[in-house]
Amino acid sequence: MIIREVKAKSIITKSNLPEADYVINPYIGCTHACIYCYASFMKRFTGHEEEWGTFLDVKINAPDLIPEKTNKYFGKHLYLSSVTDPYLPHEKKYALTRRILEKLIPLGPHIGIQSKSDLILRDLDLLEQFPVCETGLTITTLNDAVRKEIEPHTAIVQKRIEALKELKKAGLRTYVFIGPILPMVTDWKKIVLETQPFADRYLFENLNMYWMAAQNIYRWIKKAHPELFKEYQSIFGKNSTYWDQVELEIRGFCEDHGIDGRIFFHHAKERKP
Ligand code: SF4
Repeated sequence: MIIREVKAKSIITKSNLPEADYVINPYIGCTHACIYCYASFMKRFTGHEEEWGTFLDVKINAPDLIPEKTNKYFGKHLYLSSVTDPYLPHEKKYALTRRILEKLIPLGPHIGIQSKSDLILRDLDLLEQFPVCETGLTITTLNDAVRKEIEPHTAIVQKRIEALKELKKAGLRTYVFIGPILPMVTDWKKIVLETQPFADRYLFENLNMYWMAAQNIYRWIKKAHPELFKEYQSIFGKNSTYWDQVELEIRGFCEDHGIDGRIFFHHAKERKP
């Protein structure tokens, strides 16, 4: 793992995500190394040639870049993080996310923060101080052996569920991000049923087979679940209506169970293995 301490020029960035006005990424890179990672495109913009998941730039001056006084972010939706995880293991040492949150509290933004780690609980005392704070845990599978295959350096699934439970108990708004849904692997119904008492809402995202993810996904499927290979080819082949059907199923399930669910499906083009 290559860790570098770098100085950033700015830290709060305007966002084009559906539910955020601004985003903050305290790190460049992400050591969670998920095989489906959509953020690996960042390598192009940051001059990294190393494999995604094997490097991390720590923006050591990030908290200093948050202004002491400004009305600019008051009531605005500020999200951590879009192209890294704010609670990577290195956050224990650097505490960038923690110090960023401390600086943000007086500015009054509405915080959305999402992670694959129970380290989020360390900052509960700060998260509680925002006027609006929604905390999310990503869960793509309940099977920890599969978790290791696809998200090798993330917290175990049970710890994430425990974290969700604690956040809810503390009175924060919580959600589960079920994404990406991996066909025949992500049992999204089971994830919902298991976490429903601790989650106010659910976000669903499909697996997007852009070229880099496609290579990783097909490599993984061939190695770990060869019996699914043909089905993946068909799902991600031309004229597949697979995601339309899943979308309908999720809508029906949410309606039947009184679940607040939002679907963020991108119907990606065919990607050959
Ligand atoms: S946690 Fe998110 S940003 Fe990090 S590797 Fe996984 S998908 Fe990418």
